[in-house]
Amino acid sequence: MRPLALTRPGVDRAAHHRLDEAWLAAAWSHPSTRVLVVSGGQVLVEDTADGRTELVLVPSFDAPVSENHRYFLGTDEKGTHYFALQKDTLPGRMDDAARPAGLREVGGLLSERDAGLMVHAVALENWQRMHRFCSRCGERTVIAAAGHVRRCPACGAEHYPRTDPAVIMLVTDDQDRCLLGHQLHWPQGRFSTLAGFVEPGEPIEQAVVREVAEETGVTVGEVSYVASQPWPFPSSLMLGFMARATSSEITVDGEEIHEARWFSRDDLRQGIESGEILPPSGISIAARLIELWFGEPLPTGGAQRNA
Ligand SMILES: [Zn+2]
Repeated sequence: MRPLALTRPGVDRAAHHRLDEAWLAAAWSHPSTRVLVVSGGQVLVEDTADGRTELVLVPSFDAPVSENHRYFLGTDEKGTHYFALQKDTLPGRMDDAARPAGLREVGGLLSERDAGLMVHAVALENWQRMHRFCSRCGERTVIAAAGHVRRCPACGAEHYPRTDPAVIMLVTDDQDRCLLGHQLHWPQGRFSTLAGFVEPGEPIEQAVVREVAEETGVTVGEVSYVASQPWPFPSSLMLGFMARATSSEITVDGEEIHEARWFSRDDLRQGIESGEILPPSGISIAARLIELWFGEPLPTGGAQRNA
């Protein structure tokens, strides 16, 4: 399997420093420290002369300071500390080299370090933005632990960043065909793996079996875990599986999945090459699961679009 975007290791998160205010203050003011400004899931990136895409990281003395909106992201092997600064808008730049970008657009283009920093910052920002009040007593909470906890001054509750597990699975049958579905709101011709959220108290393997049955009526036997991918839109963790069907008749639910089909490798190759079928976008674990079965990178289609 090709390396999966957003799953590569970034910097050492060095979580043991998060409660040490003196250490954090010293790290923030160190001249080598670099700051990533994040706003609404977007950061500034720039394209280098040799064709790479990099995060715009600024020294901390260039970044307007507000401890309420400062997240410690970690330290790299050279000892450089990284912070994210959450702002209402991204700062303007005098030059035209930098542009705002989201994870879907640049997550697959960035280096391991930059992708790791960005996915950490965006996931924290999403959580901070949506969890400003205590879920126990309703009071406004305050940021703590360098952005990784919100504390309630009224009742003392500590709230931790939330991650929602979701399963995503490529189902194959005894003829080695794969099952792909089409959702109503997707572009015409887009087919991808089935997926769904894990329910409370449910083992993830059971979630695979349940989601496939609910969405397509196909029963599944053996389920094997492949890989995971953080998907902070706003807070999912995609858990990727291969699953073996024990039935082949398809009955779609008509709500989440509008149409589902079994594809042989030739069906999929011809469909993509003719532009009739649009595979999932390259950054997603869905594309990697399909490639794992397909045996090679998917062909580029006649009418491939990014969506
Ligand atoms: Zn409270």
